[in-house]
Amino acid sequence: MGKAKLATTSLCGCFGCHMSFLDIDERILQLVELVEFDRSPINDIKEIRNPVDIGLIEGGCANEQNVRVLHEFREHCKVLVSVGDCAINGGVPAMRNSIPLKECYEEAYLNGPTVDNPSGKIPDDPEIPLLLNKVQPCHEIVKVDYYLPGCPPPADAIWEAVSALLENREPSLPYTLLKYD
Ligand code: SF4
Repeated sequence: MGKAKLATTSLCGCFGCHMSFLDIDERILQLVELVEFDRSPINDIKEIRNPVDIGLIEGGCANEQNVRVLHEFREHCKVLVSVGDCAINGGVPAMRNSIPLKECYEEAYLNGPTVDNPSGKIPDDPEIPLLLNKVQPCHEIVKVDYYLPGCPPPADAIWEAVSALLENREPSLPYTLLKYD
C-alpha cells in the first residue's frame, strides 16, 4: 500500500500553526515515512492537484483567494482539519469585522500613522485578491471534519491528530493538549 497523502496550507494566518507543526521535531522523520506531502509550505508546492487523505488548514478566509484555496482543499481532501483559532473562528484578523471594509482600507493605505503613500491611492491591481467584507472561519464556507483549537495548537496535539487519522482512529486530545488562546 502506498503512503497516505497530506496537504497543508495557510489562508489568512501567520504561519504560527505551521511552526507548531514543525515543533514535532524528530517525529517529522516518522511522518515522512508515513505520508507523502502534496501542496504545503513545507515543500513549497503551490497547487493541490491530487486526491489527498488529510488536509490541514491554517487561517480563516479574508479574501477571495483564501476562499478558492479552501474550496480546492475541500474538493481534494478526504478529511479536512481546521488547525488553530484563525481557521476555527477567524482569530486576530477577524478583529476587523466590526469595522467597515472601506475604513480598513483607508487606515491601511491613507490615514494610518505610519503610512507613506504619496500617490494617495488605494492599491487596486487585479492581481491583488479582493478582501471579503468579513473574515470568515473555514466551517462557514466548507464542511470541516475536525478542529484543533489553540493559537497555535501544541505540536503534540497536531501530532496526535495526524497520527490518529492516519491510523483510522478518532484523535484523543486530553485537556492538557487543548489550548483556547
Ligand atoms: S491560530 Fe495563532 S498561530 Fe495559528 S495562524 Fe492564527 S494567529 Fe497564527
